[in-house]
Amino acid sequence: MNLKDKVCIITGAASGIGKGIAERFVADGARVAIADLEADAADRAAAELTGKGPGSAIGVTMNVTDEAQVNAGVARVVEEWGRIDVLVSNAGVQIVHRLENFPFADWKKMLAIHLDGAFLTSKACLPHMYKEDGGSIIFMGSVHSWEASPLKSAYVTAKHGLLGLSRVIAKEGAARGVRANVICPGFVRTPLVDKQIPEQARDLGISEEEVVKKIMLGETVDGEFTTIEDVAEVAWLFAAFPSNALTGQSLKVSHGWSMT
Ligand code: NAD
Repeated sequence: MNLKDKVCIITGAASGIGKGIAERFVADGARVAIADLEADAADRAAAELTGKGPGSAIGVTMNVTDEAQVNAGVARVVEEWGRIDVLVSNAGVQIVHRLENFPFADWKKMLAIHLDGAFLTSKACLPHMYKEDGGSIIFMGSVHSWEASPLKSAYVTAKHGLLGLSRVIAKEGAARGVRANVICPGFVRTPLVDKQIPEQARDLGISEEEVVKKIMLGETVDGEFTTIEDVAEVAWLFAAFPSNALTGQSLKVSHGWSMT
C-alpha cells in the first residue's frame, strides 16, 4: 500500500491536522492540494512541504461552504494533475456556547463548514473518482462523532452527521471503487484547541489547567493528547487501503477516551 502519484485534496490543510496529513502524504509520494480558506497560508504550506518527500504540493484557495469555490478548486486540481484519488474533508472550526446562548448565526456557520463542506467537496470529487479507478473519501470526525460534551451542540451535531454521510457514500460508491471513512480524533494540540481552552474555562467557571486535565484528557487512559502524527497515520491507512473491506467505518484515535 502506498500513495505514490496519487492525487489528494485535503481541505483545511494550511494548519494543524490537515497540514500534518499533507506532510505524511507527500512523504509517501502523493501529489497534494492544500485547499484552504487562507490562500497565503495554503501557498506557504505547499512550498514548505514540496521537497519534504518524493511527492509535491500546491495551494488552492477554497472556502468549503461556497459551492462555486469548491468546484473551481477541484477543477484546478484536475487541470494540474488530471485526476482525483483521495479527498480528506478536514476543514473545521470550533465555536462553544451553552445552547441557550448559542447564536443561531454561529450554529449555521458550524453546520455549513463541517457538513456543507463535506457534502460539497465529496460531490465535486466523486465524478472524477468514478471516471478513474475509484478513490477514498475521508471525513475528519471527532470523538464528538460518538460522544457529547457541554457547550458543543453545533460541533457534536455536525460531527455525528459525518458518520451518516460517509455511510451513504460507502454504499453508493462501492460498485465503483469509492470508499468513505471517518477519523475520530481525541484532543490534539492545534490552534483550534488552544483557542478553546480559555473559552471553556470562562464558560465552565474553572481554570485552564482544569479544562486540559479534566475536560480534555480526563477520560483518556493515560492523560495524553493525541498527536497530529497519530491522526495522519490513520488518514494514510484509510487513503491507501486497497479494497472495500475498509469502508463505511470510523476509527477513534483518542488514547482510549471513547471505546464503544
Ligand atoms: P486548525 O484550526 O489548526 O486548522 C483548521 C484549518 O481549516 C485552518 O487552516 C483554517 O483556515 C481552515 N478552514 C476553516 N474554515 C474553512 C473553510 N470554510 N474553508 C476552508 N478551510 C477552512 O484546526 P485542526 O485542529 O487542525 O482541525 C482540523 C479538523 O480536525 C477539524 O475538522 C476539527 O474539527 C477536527 N478535529 C480536531 C481535533 C483537535 O483536537 N484539534 C479533534 C478532533 C477533530
